[in-house]
Amino acid sequence: MIRATRFEAAEFGGPIMPRLRDLPAPQGREVIVEVSHCGVCHTDLHVHHGGYAIGGGRELRFSDRGVKPPLVLGHEIVGRVIEAGPDTGPLPEGPVAVYPWIGCGRCFRCDAGEDHLCASGKFLGVFAPGGYASHVTVPDPRYLIDIGDIDPAIAALFGCSGLTCFAALKKVAQLPDAAGLIIIGAGGLGQTAIALAQQTGRRNIVAVDTSADKRAQSLALGAKAALDPAEATPKALAEAAEGPILAVLDFVGSEATTALATAALEKGGTLVVIGLFGGELRYPLPLVPIRALTIVGSYVGSLADMAEYVAHVREHGVPHIPVDRKPMAAAGEVLAALGRGEIAGRTVLVNSADGETA
Ligand SMILES: [Zn+2]
Ligand SMILES: [Zn+2]
Repeated sequence: MIRATRFEAAEFGGPIMPRLRDLPAPQGREVIVEVSHCGVCHTDLHVHHGGYAIGGGRELRFSDRGVKPPLVLGHEIVGRVIEAGPDTGPLPEGPVAVYPWIGCGRCFRCDAGEDHLCASGKFLGVFAPGGYASHVTVPDPRYLIDIGDIDPAIAALFGCSGLTCFAALKKVAQLPDAAGLIIIGAGGLGQTAIALAQQTGRRNIVAVDTSADKRAQSLALGAKAALDPAEATPKALAEAAEGPILAVLDFVGSEATTALATAALEKGGTLVVIGLFGGELRYPLPLVPIRALTIVGSYVGSLADMAEYVAHVREHGVPHIPVDRKPMAAAGEVLAALGRGEIAGRTVLVNSADGETA
């Protein structure tokens, strides 16, 4: 029996407090991972808060989708296997990143390896206890990806921000390298996407962000131009991209950003909505066919995408995103600071090396 420390919220919006919990021995193909690192993500804020704004003052409630407190947040998990069920077979010995978007294992999505689109997902840190803890139970070792000697604090982000950017870029991978690619929102995800797009040969990347710092960082990562939204007219974007804008990755996902994106796209262009800011998409329907637009949502990525992403990182290097480390016990404070917009880059919670939750 493993006694785990979990940093739990007893109710939506409630304080995050340490609790000792006895983890049941792993059954079947289950494994218990001793968590070394867990990233703190904006999604955690939404789960903690209990919902997303979906426009018109309405909310998508997590409680309606089967999320039940106590909440153990955290889906950006790195650790080591320390206990395994009887049917697991050989296990990775070194540090692993955990694929958190785990499905039911019984539906057509899960059969196709698209756990992240499963209607009965058991996502770690959302529907099942996550990584704000000393230990996490994972249903199958196939969700573990060997990270080799990659910095574990960086690898913690692979299952979420890295995967999200990689899978979103795959949705426009068919476009020619010279196509204009607009990245709206140049925070952690947007910057990762810029770096990745650059690594994969995209030449005409333009970032849009309200922050001068983030615009400067975007240029350093390989964007050809970076504009403030106030100056980002469709014409200015096309000029900055030096070519037709065929793809927009919207990491904000607000009414203003999707309006800008749909106005800026050339015929046949693709808008990928990733951000979860909230609101409604407003666009004249006849223009969708007339302009042959593709509007597609991208939500994290599949287990295969994550493996592909880790292989990409091993070959090309990790897109540099500033990562701050904090002790696991600071989970509640870090989440609150993120909610107040006080965190630049990403924060990763760390359990100290002797297994204590520092
Ligand atoms: Zn995340
Ligand atoms: Zn399923």
